[in-house]
Amino acid sequence: MSFLNSIGRSMTRNTNPKGPSKRSPTPTSATFPPETPTSPTAPHSQSQLSSSQQKPLYLCSPFVESALVKGNFKTIVMLPKYVDIMEWVAVNIFDFYTNLNEFYGVITEFCTQHHCPTMAAGPTLNYTWINQERKSVQLAAPYYIDYVMTWVENLINDESVFPTKSNQEFHNSFPSTVKHVYRQLLRVFAHIYHAHYPQILHLRSEPHFNSLFAHFLAFGREYELLEMKDVRGSSSSPVGIGALYEKWREMGILEG
Ligand SMILES: [Zn+2]
Repeated sequence: MSFLNSIGRSMTRNTNPKGPSKRSPTPTSATFPPETPTSPTAPHSQSQLSSSQQKPLYLCSPFVESALVKGNFKTIVMLPKYVDIMEWVAVNIFDFYTNLNEFYGVITEFCTQHHCPTMAAGPTLNYTWINQERKSVQLAAPYYIDYVMTWVENLINDESVFPTKSNQEFHNSFPSTVKHVYRQLLRVFAHIYHAHYPQILHLRSEPHFNSLFAHFLAFGREYELLEMKDVRGSSSSPVGIGALYEKWREMGILEG
């Protein structure tokens, strides 16, 4: 079933998909202007190639195979019977955000302006942010991620976007809003894999983190929330996790 094509359907809501909201463990940035729901630009490529082109650890065995669950993730993303598709997407977005935020909270002390002066997601890839003057700017990863997580948290807490009352319907713009959210959460995953995988390994969290990301990818593919060009990047500035996606597809844990 196509999620994006389902917005015209009339919907009846009868559940509350959200648990209690949590305060973001990401650092706050009082020196930056308030978050706006504008999107960062397409990946920005650096002119210099990294000298070390060795295979990242997340693509190496045994880490690449490490997961909490075995089998194809497609089975756990399918819409359960009698569940409204909007509710299903909303509750899953909430879970992805909450879990990713927890992971980032654990490694946040390593994601500093000093260690991560750019929002890097590959040897030649840095994401840029569109500021309030509509200019594309480089932000240190902790600031970029703080913007993303604060923006998503505010959306989730906004009853007009993620309604929780039974007589409220989702707005027609909900599918495009969550696509936007998905793109930004993907970038946070991409940065953590690229820049902080050693810390994930140090915490022995790679099965958890891999499972969360595989679930995120499978769900995004199933409900058309994920653009493959965002997963792979361009040939001159590929996203590091693009190779991970391909590897997992070969391994049969994502859809064919
Ligand atoms: Zn970082």
